[in-house]
Amino acid sequence: MTQDLDLSTTSSNLQLDMTTRRVGEASMYIDGKWLPSTSGETFATVDPNTGAEIAQVPRGDSTDVNKAVEAAARVAVEWQFTDAITRAGLLRRLAAVITEHTEELAQIEALDSGHYIAKARDLVAAMPLWLEYWAGAADKVNGRSITVPGNKFSFTVLEPLGVTAHIVPWNYPLLVMVRSIAPALALGNTCVVKPAEDTSLSALKFAELVEEAGFPAGVFNVVTGLGAEAGAALAAHPEVRGITFTGSTETGRLVGKLAAEHVAQVNLELGGKSPFIVLPDARLDDAVEAAIQGFCSHAGQICTAGSRLFLHEDIAEDFLVRMEARLANTKVGDGFDPSTEMGPLVSKKQMERVLSYIDIGKSEATLRIGGSRPKAADGGGYFVEPTVFDNVSPNARIATEEIFGPVTAVIRWNDLDTLIEQCNASDYGLFAVVWGQDITQAMTLARRLQSGNVLINDWFGELPMVPHGGHKQSGNGREEGLEAVHGYTQVKHIGISLDPNPRDSADWIQAPL
Ligand code: NAD
Repeated sequence: MTQDLDLSTTSSNLQLDMTTRRVGEASMYIDGKWLPSTSGETFATVDPNTGAEIAQVPRGDSTDVNKAVEAAARVAVEWQFTDAITRAGLLRRLAAVITEHTEELAQIEALDSGHYIAKARDLVAAMPLWLEYWAGAADKVNGRSITVPGNKFSFTVLEPLGVTAHIVPWNYPLLVMVRSIAPALALGNTCVVKPAEDTSLSALKFAELVEEAGFPAGVFNVVTGLGAEAGAALAAHPEVRGITFTGSTETGRLVGKLAAEHVAQVNLELGGKSPFIVLPDARLDDAVEAAIQGFCSHAGQICTAGSRLFLHEDIAEDFLVRMEARLANTKVGDGFDPSTEMGPLVSKKQMERVLSYIDIGKSEATLRIGGSRPKAADGGGYFVEPTVFDNVSPNARIATEEIFGPVTAVIRWNDLDTLIEQCNASDYGLFAVVWGQDITQAMTLARRLQSGNVLINDWFGELPMVPHGGHKQSGNGREEGLEAVHGYTQVKHIGISLDPNPRDSADWIQAPL
């Protein structure tokens, strides 16, 4: 009978061979063991540069989720009362181990997610910042003392939630995972991660490094599988006390409902349709470069994508001519070619979704740049050209729905109040960017835009100390910054009477029962 067999191995077999672009057997990491799925089922993960299979990944389901949550629950109290300095030391050790394995991790991330290799290296090299930031916070997160009437002492402590679930999307698999597990672990929670089905491999490699750093078994676990199976089972598990979900607004609603069934705390980091606004006095070459980053970074698969490009009508034409010239020289291609500036979309499904929005755009607006698949796509990869639509109505589908590809919609404007109204006429409110020299106009926009983040004359560079999150249907809670403490702790109040005869001064004693 299979359930009596111990199928675990003592080490992961995740070895990447870059000549074949294949990865050895992938196993899940549960309770310090490397395991296949209990059902024995697997699914394929592919290289989006070519469409070829990289590996088979265990298709975990509710049975595997139960094992992982039980392991995390078993060690939760011990981990909570492990000295904060010891927890911080392990996070720092993990940061050092990641640095030693940067190239390996970057190659796996690039191969599985389609980030081009130089970007993947930068992302991996940045990860220690998050681990060190939260290692530093581990022994500095305190409650407060409260002044109360009478001879009493009253104070709060911030306690970990217990077992936390981390459901991760495919666009920034390592970074999105690390930015939530770092505070969770630092503040005394144990973790179960569910990576996205298209990009599970880097979380498994990361788990090897967690093991090497010396974290106790059960404190950190990874269950791979499909969203509707493993993801839903994890969000629904009654012993999961906190859920950080990063992904689409649609799935976020489902996860929120599952969390409500067992009253788990939930952080939702969801989608966006962010305005990128150019004022008439902006430095155009800088603004063009930032706008391109805004909708082409990781082929537009970025939650903060500036996919509504609001150009003041006085500079719109000049701006677009400069943008055309810059994009004509942008190299789209295989992420392991060092000259590549933009890689593929993560999957065939995502590519088809983006191409269908390009078709919609062709019927709603003027195609100005791109709109097809580039030559690089002949090799089977999921490439789409950077695409710009001009003269877009603010109510058009390409101006209101999140496309999650290298596509932007230009809306020309001439009146600040109308601009603000149009920017805010969105269900989303994740991010906004303003380029221009007029600080009064820029700050008026910053104050009036309904958005969790506003940048002026800058483009996105995520940082561990800056709170990130959305207004409206872009989410709730905050990742990063000290604000994230609230997502991974709960308040306990402790009150003590200091009266030697508490009955003499008690206000509760006269109360009728
Ligand atoms: P998605 O919602 O399809 O999937 C995200 C994760 O949820 C995956 O791990 C998936 O397996 C899991 N999942 C799917 N169905 C589930 C279910 N029924 N129950 C539980 N889990 C389930 O999102 P995606 O397509 O992987 O990622 C793209 C989306 O993520 C975009 O909307 C993007 O804007 C958003 N995103 C937001 C942020 C942010 O910080 N706000 C960051 C990155 C990505």
